[in-house]
Formats: sequence, structure tokens, C-alpha cells
Amino acid sequence: MLSNQCERCERQNQILTGSWFNTQMICPQCQQLETEHPLYEKAKRVENEHCFNGNYNFEGIGLPKDLEVVSRIASDIDLEDKPKFQQPLNKKEEKDMISFLNLYTKEV
Ligand SMILES: [Zn+2]
Repeated sequence: MLSNQCERCERQNQILTGSWFNTQMICPQCQQLETEHPLYEKAKRVENEHCFNGNYNFEGIGLPKDLEVVSRIASDIDLEDKPKFQQPLNKKEEKDMISFLNLYTKEV
């Protein structure tokens, strides 16, 4: 059965991708944190070298301890794939928005 739980931070997420550092399936946030880690480029390079040499079972250079900790304690960060608006404005909110905008357009 497929799990939607990130193997690194244990958040639920529909989208999980493979880590460059190890064999974990991780969520977009953990992936984002990975790319910001100083060893990220090295992890990718070593992985690619192993693939190039025919070793497709390379498990990665290992998850840096600090990255593991950061991933687990990081609060939710805004990722682009999160919709900015969960739902369209209802009629009242739309009216409020228009009167709000009118405050700034009256004098033009
Ligand atoms: Zn995660």
C-alpha cells in the first residue's frame, strides 16, 4: 500500500519524491530544504557518477544530521504548489473587496 507520509518529516503529502542524499521518499518541503543544504550539489554529483558507472543501486552519500534535524523541526514554509486561495470569494467577500478597492480609486 502506498503511503502519503514523508519518510523524513512524517508530514502527509500527496507528492513524494526520492531524496538525493538517501533512499527516502520525501515531501516538497524536505526537497526544498535539501536543495539549500551545502552538500546538495555533492550528493547529486556522486549519485550521477555512480549511475554513470552503472551502479543504479547507489544509496546516496547519506543524510546529513543537520538536514535531518532541520527537516523535522522546520515549520511549514510557503511552497509554490500550495494554492494561495483555497476557494473563490463568496458574494459578501467580493463586495467587501470591491468597496475596499473603491477607497483607493475614488480620487483618481
Ligand atoms: Zn518531509
